Amino acid sequence: MKSVDAHLADILATVRTLAPLELELERALGTTLAEEVSSPVPLPPFDNSAMDGYAVRAADVAAAPVSLPVIDDIAAGSGELRAIGHGHAVRIMTGAPLPAGADAVVPVEWTDGGTVTVRIDRPVREGNAVRRAGEDVQAGEVVLKPGTTIGAAQLGIIAGTGRRRVWVRPRPRVVVLSTGAELVEPGTQLGPGQIWDSNSFTLTAAVREAGGEGFRAGTVTDDPAAFLDQLDAQLVRADAVITSGGVSMGAYEPVKEALGPLGTVRFEKVAMQPGMPQGFGVVGDDQVPIFTLPGNPVSSYVSFQLFVRPALRKMRGLPAGPPATRSAHLLAPLHSPEGKRSFLRGVLADDGTVTPVHGQGSHQLAALALANCLIMVPEQVTEVPSGASVQVIRI
Ligand code: AMP
Ligand code: MG
Repeated sequence: MKSVDAHLADILATVRTLAPLELELERALGTTLAEEVSSPVPLPPFDNSAMDGYAVRAADVAAAPVSLPVIDDIAAGSGELRAIGHGHAVRIMTGAPLPAGADAVVPVEWTDGGTVTVRIDRPVREGNAVRRAGEDVQAGEVVLKPGTTIGAAQLGIIAGTGRRRVWVRPRPRVVVLSTGAELVEPGTQLGPGQIWDSNSFTLTAAVREAGGEGFRAGTVTDDPAAFLDQLDAQLVRADAVITSGGVSMGAYEPVKEALGPLGTVRFEKVAMQPGMPQGFGVVGDDQVPIFTLPGNPVSSYVSFQLFVRPALRKMRGLPAGPPATRSAHLLAPLHSPEGKRSFLRGVLADDGTVTPVHGQGSHQLAALALANCLIMVPEQVTEVPSGASVQVIRI
């Protein structure tokens, strides 16, 4: 059997980082920056007030309380400013440009709020409540480097430097296909021998959680020709494909039967539990990577975390490797098959303890839904006593 590490290494050696493209900011959330972003101007672009209040010369209010004539009123967005002279005050709002001659802002709370004359109750230091030009970013300064994942704050600073479009590595488009003659759509009645398709929902959502764009292409029956047709139709919009089911040792294994003869997808046994039957390769003229995951719901989900998630990171231009682990203190004994790496479902608590969930079968999706981590048991270990230190992967 192939090791988990060797299987992931093969996958990471095959998948390629997506080429950059220029996107409107509205579409850039969750993508990876592919250029350096710098600001063409200082930010803020001009000295401005940090508070609602009165722009003054600090020296003029040193003897506060004092009354000063209010010679102007400046709102945010004001363009034409009169310089202020000795002994003058100007009413000013947050974000409004500081008029020439002023060197401080007195917050409105320290005044009587007057509009013709204002009584100022307290002195201020020079520079009080003034935001200087370039205090956030200097002109020409780099604000984001290539390889940065674009979240809300990153989008904000890109827009804040005046950009409308940005070069990024896009979110990989991943088509998800479930196979199985027993599958019917949730929301419809179950007939004899049927179950509701859950994998395509799980895997499409997992793609989104991993920074891709998931497209749920629904289910196909166990007919290899129908599977190939559906795959063909979906390839045009896919950077990668995930299938579930149809790769085990039984009869009616459409994925294996359809893709095996192509010679570009390898079906292998990987030394892990759950998720032993795995397939990976490329399909179509564009050599689109395809992950053929086993059908059992927990197996396909665990396989996604171990193999597809790192591959998506590489496609996104991010550092990619095995899932991060941390150690935890096990609160119940565990069994694991010899020769396979186990990924048991557990609940990791804030105090660093981990409890296996009840129901460790690869079909027990309800137990998976209660878990927040996978407890890893190495290949050669078969018994783990309560109280042992174990490695866990957060999910
Ligand atoms: P297979 O890998 O096709 O042999 O399927 C293994 C098990 O997983 C069988 O019990 C299937 O009914 C179940 N299964 C396969 N595909 C799905 C799916 N999309 N949703 C829920 N269960 C599935
Ligand atoms: Mg099947």
